[in-house]
Amino acid sequence: MSSAGKTSLTTKVLVGMGLGIAVGLAINLMGQNTPGTFVNDYVVNGFFLAVGSMFINALKMLVVPLVIFSLICGVCGIGDIRALGRVGGKSFALYMMTTAIAIATAIVIASTFGIGKGMNQVSEAEFSAKEAPPLVQVLIDIIPSNPIRSMANGDMLPVIFFSILFGISMLLVGKRARSFVEGAEVANEVMMKMVNLVMAVAPYAVFALIAKAVAELGIDLLASLAGYVGVLVAALMIHLFVTLMVVLKVFSGLSPAMFLKKIRNVQVFAFSTASSNATIPVTMRTVTERFGVNNSVASFTVPFGATINMDGTAIMQGVATVFIANVYGVELGLTGYLTVILMSVLASIGTAGVPGVGLIMLSMVFAQVGLPIEGIGLVLGVDRLMDMIRTAVNVSGDATVSCIVAKGEGKLNQSIFDDTDAGVVDNSDSFHIDEGVQEEMAKVVEAPPGKLYPESKREAEHS
Ligand code: ASP
Repeated sequence: MSSAGKTSLTTKVLVGMGLGIAVGLAINLMGQNTPGTFVNDYVVNGFFLAVGSMFINALKMLVVPLVIFSLICGVCGIGDIRALGRVGGKSFALYMMTTAIAIATAIVIASTFGIGKGMNQVSEAEFSAKEAPPLVQVLIDIIPSNPIRSMANGDMLPVIFFSILFGISMLLVGKRARSFVEGAEVANEVMMKMVNLVMAVAPYAVFALIAKAVAELGIDLLASLAGYVGVLVAALMIHLFVTLMVVLKVFSGLSPAMFLKKIRNVQVFAFSTASSNATIPVTMRTVTERFGVNNSVASFTVPFGATINMDGTAIMQGVATVFIANVYGVELGLTGYLTVILMSVLASIGTAGVPGVGLIMLSMVFAQVGLPIEGIGLVLGVDRLMDMIRTAVNVSGDATVSCIVAKGEGKLNQSIFDDTDAGVVDNSDSFHIDEGVQEEMAKVVEAPPGKLYPESKREAEHS
């Protein structure tokens, strides 16, 4: 298949995104986004809501089984069990380091521009702070008392812990667990096929998700919060295009240009869903099949990063802290800002990558440094859009660290990374069911227990 044909999914997703922005803007500017209008009730909150939510559900449906099977295969395939500790240590250190740099950059930029100074603190939006889990509880909860419950709730850290332990135990059982490992490998491949199937409908879903988000955006708020939004977006872009790319080049020697080209799809998914967790299947697929990161590394670094690494969210916290401190005329001082940095890095460990979680973390930071929590109401109106942008930065950080760790461990296939076309979603191959395969599967289902293998073996011998 030609390269042009192969890239068509990415192009279609980008077209879906562009059309979504255009349609959403039109609805917004024509004032059709108010309850009671036909467009608002039946199109935006009917059709767009249904299509978008079904798609997000489809992505979330893949996350837990994909993480479990790929981690089991990852642990069994790592070759040297000590490497597991190294991968864990390196990725944790890099995730924390990039998050700390992110928030420090944000504070410096926001302070330089003095955003929020002289602004009136009028906010109609009420913000009620939810509790973020304390760090001790986060540590305790890494070990699931009931793994099925953790799986049902989609709690990533305990699921990661259980799957790693399961994989290690399979290695300890040895040869008798071999068929189980093979089974997990097949299950992992099946899950990856499911990712392809779900990704195929992405252009339409991305259109619906973005059209709805833009239709509901407070455009008038954007103008009044132009300083906050401008500085936040600038800091996010600097982190994505400068900091992360410098870190990638310095720590792995890999090409930032190639990275940025291939990461686009993941960013669009993150942008549309505003959830690093829901984007895990796409991040995992891209990191392994487009960047050439071995599954033994990606199966750990991607879900781990979706949970503990939130560079974009940390940037929002830095900018919002400076903004609200200025609006309320609070002088935080160096100690205050250092506390903000520490708190946001710690808060990112315990909170999952789901929409809007950044605001919960922000309330935790505010409580710590004594800023008024109700100040968060000031930025609430534009937070959905900011969430979408910062989630795209969050997942880019996850992929960057995955590539660095894989390269350092000798688990990155350089020729896949360098090949522009490697692993693009090729729908024509993905969705073709071979007739021979269908017949073979039907035989498997119909065969009496224990009969299948010897017969098929005999057939093979006679043919
Ligand atoms: N939505 C973000 C994520 O999933 C978290 C946040 O900033 O609210 O990564």
